[in-house]
Amino acid sequence: MSESASSLPDDLDSVRRALVEWYEGDHRKFPWRETTNPYEILVSEVMSQQTQLDRVVAAFADFVERWPDVERLAAADRSAVVGFWSDHSLGYNNRARYLHEAAGQVVAEFDGEFPENPDDLQELQGVGPYTANAVASFAFDNGNAVVDTNVKRVLYRAFDMPDDDAAFEDAAGELLPDDESRVWNNAIMELGGVACTKTPACDEESCPWRGWCGAYATGDFSAPDVPTQSPFEGSRRQFRGRVVRVLGEYDELALSELGPRVRVDYTPEGEHGRDWLRGLLADLEDDGLVALDTDGETSARLRR
Ligand code: SF4
Repeated sequence: MSESASSLPDDLDSVRRALVEWYEGDHRKFPWRETTNPYEILVSEVMSQQTQLDRVVAAFADFVERWPDVERLAAADRSAVVGFWSDHSLGYNNRARYLHEAAGQVVAEFDGEFPENPDDLQELQGVGPYTANAVASFAFDNGNAVVDTNVKRVLYRAFDMPDDDAAFEDAAGELLPDDESRVWNNAIMELGGVACTKTPACDEESCPWRGWCGAYATGDFSAPDVPTQSPFEGSRRQFRGRVVRVLGEYDELALSELGPRVRVDYTPEGEHGRDWLRGLLADLEDDGLVALDTDGETSARLRR
């Protein structure tokens, strides 16, 4: 077994299902998520490489209104495409040139039909491994696991991964459910985009991986692109994480046994005693992570 695979939890199906359900329950709506048109997805991916997503939304709408399909983009004057790029502040003009060139290739070399797998898509001008994989996934449900900065941050935190590209690739591939690259890659990138951001919003965004997440349990939210962690030490979030981690090791645990396992200075009647613990547990119960016994007084267990 590879190093990365060994870092992943045993119950991978539960891990996968939790993320897909979280994504399908709610996610940001972008026009390119509402389509499986490879041309529109390529345009959105190229635009998103250097530009904030909310600005891309407006530019994308203008672009596909002006050049609605690959044939019309291929037939356009290159200077018009480059002009559009500059007018919409979309970053390096070379990307506009490459996009125009790629449209010409699709028309001339592929008979107007986009290739459907990542390797063939990479033959298009300016289309690297990431973009090829994104188009294969989102247009054709035929991609590999996407591994970008957001995905690395999620994997590093959630599964105690080393900061190693091969290990990330390996783990991301292991996690990818068979034949579901469209929803999966969207879901894990959404997790990195809204919940597992540089300053994570684990509880605020109801991250579905809190029950498995190493960072949530320890309070260490550093990541390859977050070298110094935010000052979570001693924070409520850290202790919530510890509760989840401790309960994960037991079927059910009495509060009198849980308290000292969550913090060394726990004393039932003290400042960080039973009332404090009940408050944490009540929040976790509201979030659907923890189930308490009927009176909420004596024991707790993890809900999965
Ligand atoms: S619990 Fe927090 S740190 Fe862990 S994966 Fe979720 S958002 Fe990221």
